[in-house]
Amino acid sequence: MAVPKKKTSKSRRNMRRSHHALSAATYAECSNCGEMKRPHHVCGSCGHYGEREVVTVAAESA
Ligand SMILES: [Zn+2]
Repeated sequence: MAVPKKKTSKSRRNMRRSHHALSAATYAECSNCGEMKRPHHVCGSCGHYGEREVVTVAAESA
């Protein structure tokens, strides 16, 4: 089994992890209801994606 020859220093470990940061999710206004939604995702409040309704929201139909 392959084994590391040298201990990874704190500096090298932290340099490797410099690319691991998470970025905040982006949101855009829904073109149908105006709620904030993730781009390229179905709207959670009205069930629209693009021009048409693809998911029926339970609160809306009741
Ligand atoms: Zn919407």
